[in-house]
Amino acid sequence: MPRTLDPQLKRALAERIRFYNELGIYDFYRQEPRSSDDSSPTQPEMREEMPRKSAVPVLEEAGLFVPAKPEASVSDPIEGLRVIREDIGDCTRCRLHKQGRKQIVFGVGNPNADLMFIGEAPGADEDEQGEPFVGRAGQLLNNMIKAMGLRREDVYIANIIKCRPPGNRTPERDECDTCSPFLMRQIEVIKPKAIVALGAVAAKTLLAINAPMSEFRGRWYDFRGTKLAVTYHPAFLLRDPRQKKETWKDLQMVMRELGLPMPAKGVE
Ligand code: URA
Repeated sequence: MPRTLDPQLKRALAERIRFYNELGIYDFYRQEPRSSDDSSPTQPEMREEMPRKSAVPVLEEAGLFVPAKPEASVSDPIEGLRVIREDIGDCTRCRLHKQGRKQIVFGVGNPNADLMFIGEAPGADEDEQGEPFVGRAGQLLNNMIKAMGLRREDVYIANIIKCRPPGNRTPERDECDTCSPFLMRQIEVIKPKAIVALGAVAAKTLLAINAPMSEFRGRWYDFRGTKLAVTYHPAFLLRDPRQKKETWKDLQMVMRELGLPMPAKGVE
């Protein structure tokens, strides 16, 4: 990018930055152009993660002001989460605000947690109570946490999207894209040692990989410098309890990583 920008382009870029800030996005990256002889596969599931370079220095060099995230100057995670919650406000950024959601379900738990669970979207109970995983699936998630030798209040629990989709339908891609920047900021503030993505929606959104659950499980991923594992969603386990054994294997992998003692009993 040239050091002196055409004024019209500069105005358009400044407008774009403001637009993204309103969506909760403060990180901007540059994509290095692929070389013409690059024959690597183009399917999203096979794409190699490209090293991400911040675009901020270039934008600033061109005279554009790129604001820092509102929580950037806050070192206390409790305060950091409060600032992010305030930035979300009474969100109207996607269609879900007018499709019957009662409230925003931000997240719950220990702001200093080593372990974070990320589900899909609030259901009816969560929408009613303003807390993630409080219904039947939540009871099972509590059992999973307990089986790991932890308490619900030791971990942090959130969802990819913060508003209940009507009829508990699967969140649309654009709803995930609009809402997840706030989750990314929550993760940055909490700095967990490990993240467990519950189910395919969480895994696909966080990893930007389109794969079936069977391929996601059983290994670690690098999620922006944090270890991320994928396991079955508790709602799926309610429908197919035979998979609890597999889930327990995933959770044991997480426990080993966190240095937690290994109890004999699995998920009930
Ligand atoms: N399912 C989810 O993915 N999240 C919740 O909070 C509840 C059920």
